Amino acid sequence: MKGNRALSRSPRREQLIDDPRHDSYKARGKLPDPTRCPECRAVFQKGRWTWNGARSADVHEQLCPACQRARDGFPGGYVTLGGEYLAAHRDEILNLVRNCEAEEKARHPLQRIIAIRNVDGGVLVTTTDAHLARRIAEHVHDACKGSLALQYSKEENLVRANWMR
Ligand SMILES: [Zn+2]
Repeated sequence: MKGNRALSRSPRREQLIDDPRHDSYKARGKLPDPTRCPECRAVFQKGRWTWNGARSADVHEQLCPACQRARDGFPGGYVTLGGEYLAAHRDEILNLVRNCEAEEKARHPLQRIIAIRNVDGGVLVTTTDAHLARRIAEHVHDACKGSLALQYSKEENLVRANWMR
């Protein structure tokens, strides 16, 4: 794409960006260190995102990959929850989902829920990262049994999980 080419400084990097299978949200890793996300206040520092980064006022600001994905409406994971047991224990199960997110997010700032929505026959949870979708699905499965199907797409760095009970 013309736009990418104009912005790219090194020919090697251009190849990466042009590769449609490349996860562009992770490719933006060449950030000034530190960089702060103006939305969630996570800080990219010493090569990783943290909640306990530099607080100085003049730090470089750029959206973190998680906020970027949420803004673009481009999840890294989809967890579909369905079945009669879900309908009967909905609040309880959604608490499990939220607790799982809180635990992951505290340690890994880019692991977040984008949205929890009602869909036909159940609930759809979208996440900023494939890892969290898998964790949530396995957490619900461990706690409530039922059946779980996980689908990975390595190319898109995407997980689709389907839990039923
Ligand atoms: Zn952010």
